[in-house]
Amino acid sequence: MIPDYIRKTLSALNDAGFEAYIVGGAVRDTLRGVPVHDYDITTSALPDTVTKVMTSAGFKLIIDSSSIYGTVVFTHPDAPSDKVEITTFRSDNSYSDRRHPDDVSFTSSLEEDAARRDFTVNSLYMDINENIIDPNGGRADIDSGIIRAIGNPSDRFNEDALRILRAVRFEAVTGFKIEDETSSAMAHCAPLLKNISSERIFSELTGIVTGPYGPDAIRHNIEVVSVIIPELKLQVDFDQKSKFHDRDLLTHTLDVLAGIPLGEDGVKDAAVAYSAVLHDIGKPQVFTIDEDGVGHMKKHNVAGMIIAERLADELKFPNILKQEVSQLVMYHDSFPEPERKSVRKFIATVGVPLCDKLFALQKADVEAHSVYGKPRIERLKVIMSLYDEIMAEEPCLTVKDLKVRGGDVIDLGIEKGPMVGKVLDDVLARVLDEQLNNDKDEIINYIKERYSL
Ligand code: ATP
Ligand code: MG
Repeated sequence: MIPDYIRKTLSALNDAGFEAYIVGGAVRDTLRGVPVHDYDITTSALPDTVTKVMTSAGFKLIIDSSSIYGTVVFTHPDAPSDKVEITTFRSDNSYSDRRHPDDVSFTSSLEEDAARRDFTVNSLYMDINENIIDPNGGRADIDSGIIRAIGNPSDRFNEDALRILRAVRFEAVTGFKIEDETSSAMAHCAPLLKNISSERIFSELTGIVTGPYGPDAIRHNIEVVSVIIPELKLQVDFDQKSKFHDRDLLTHTLDVLAGIPLGEDGVKDAAVAYSAVLHDIGKPQVFTIDEDGVGHMKKHNVAGMIIAERLADELKFPNILKQEVSQLVMYHDSFPEPERKSVRKFIATVGVPLCDKLFALQKADVEAHSVYGKPRIERLKVIMSLYDEIMAEEPCLTVKDLKVRGGDVIDLGIEKGPMVGKVLDDVLARVLDEQLNNDKDEIINYIKERYSL
């Protein structure tokens, strides 16, 4: 069903005598029967004309076409949060920076516009009457679930290496199979990804790790993904020489990623997904074998955290994501004892928002071990149910949750300054240890006694 503001866009351009179509992801997703998240429009009208036609139809211009790429963006008063992006039919010429065409020519030919697009499934056009125009056989490829480059795959990836990662992302999101020739060209051209900006890589990589088919997409395209995360290549066929592992390290890693649940939005939480991919990334670096032939990977969490932080810096992760991934990798192998006190202290150390994510990661991790890992699954189940129980009680986990404030401590006679914080930390430690209840009178009595006030 074409939304009203898109229908208005198409009819305004058609009424002015131009061709206008929905193109790209919206058509692909409509034909796949999944929700459409944004509409790209393409037209035979030149950008200035598009602006004139659209503003007289009541749309508001929000981004003009001063860039040479010919995209103009509008909103409509009836749907102010929905943007309409309109791009004039283009045929792109040479790509000296492997990302931006040097010279864009507008064209009145839909076939030329279709030829410059990346994949057949992305070069389908829908008119206002919902007729599909399919110059590259994209519909058959959607029906058979195939991602296929348009034209010569190698040439297309040489023009713009980002397409390599887009293909992996489309596989991770749709579960489609990348056609063989396209796939070999991707592996061959993968080193060209080094020329692509970190922002764009980050955005595609996030789509890959969080996508429902992410684990298979990474497995099938390990040559490509390893250009961005080189340590992942070391995990291929890596035998940990441990009875707790019955599969090579990459398979374990991807099984952990597969065990991370999808959110309501159909994708995985980015911090949990990245930490699943990176939780054991430090293992090959610290691997040793003892005289009995058993493998050890001491402090692989610290080695992994360092690699994760380096990747986060390289790809300019948002700060909060970097922090979460780094902590999750650091703590992925730390478990409290399966009893209340220990779980409470653990929650207080890790922090509440992160604990949910950590347990999701740990659950997926313990489930991706050999049968010898079974007791850990049972232990974690107990820990997680204690966690739920404790959280339901609105527990006191930080100094802020205490029933006494700094002011109360000062009123008791402690001098204003660092000592006040020390006293509160001491009180918190006792509350976490269940030696003291979080009760104002009880805490005040304790402070008086302990500090002889
Ligand atoms: P989604 O919006 O789900 O990411 P999409 O296919 O709509 O998927 P966009 O990035 O919105 O992707 O691009 C819209 C269309 O523009 C694509 O469907 C494709 O036809 C074309 N396109 C985008 N990026 C490229 C590229 N790097 N090379 C060639 N064509 C591209
Ligand atoms: Mg799109």
